[in-house]
This record gives sequence, structure tokens and C-alpha cells, in this order.
Amino acid sequence: TYVVTENCIKCKYTDCVEVCPVDCFYEGENMLVIHPDECIDCGVCVPECPANAIFSDAEPQATEAWLSLNRQYSDVW
Ligand code: SF4
Repeated sequence: TYVVTENCIKCKYTDCVEVCPVDCFYEGENMLVIHPDECIDCGVCVPECPANAIFSDAEPQATEAWLSLNRQYSDVW
């Protein structure tokens, strides 16, 4: 899965949401998140993010803390 991290906080862009083929972005408290079970790992959103906030869970920036926050916020809705 891909994970939204720190740089997204208070970011006002939604370019990622527009390109995601499976609509798996959700709105968290002050950032967007990716639903880890819905993301199909296409990677299309990564270059679209102007804040460089999206990482693959294989990358060190996608820590356990961010992973669980993405899951937590996307299950709220
Ligand atoms: Fe959506 Fe693809 Fe980004 Fe996953 S990697 S959030 S499926 S655009």
C-alpha cells in the first residue's frame, strides 16, 4: 500500500484524489489518508502530490505510526 505522511498536514491540494483510479483517499482530521486495503499500489498519486507526502510502505518514510494513522482515519467513514 501507499501511505500519506507528515507533509500532507494542512496541505490544501487534492491532486492525488483526482488521479486515484480506485478512489481510496479519505479525509482525516487535518490531512488526507489512503485506505490500505483499497489501494492497488499503482503509484500514480506519488508524482501528483505537490507536497511529496506519499510513500510506498516499502520506503522508510512510511513508518508504522503513519500506516496506522492512515488505516484509522480511512475506517472512520
Ligand atoms: Fe490510489 Fe494508486 Fe495512490 Fe494507491 S497508489 S492511493 S491506488 S493512486
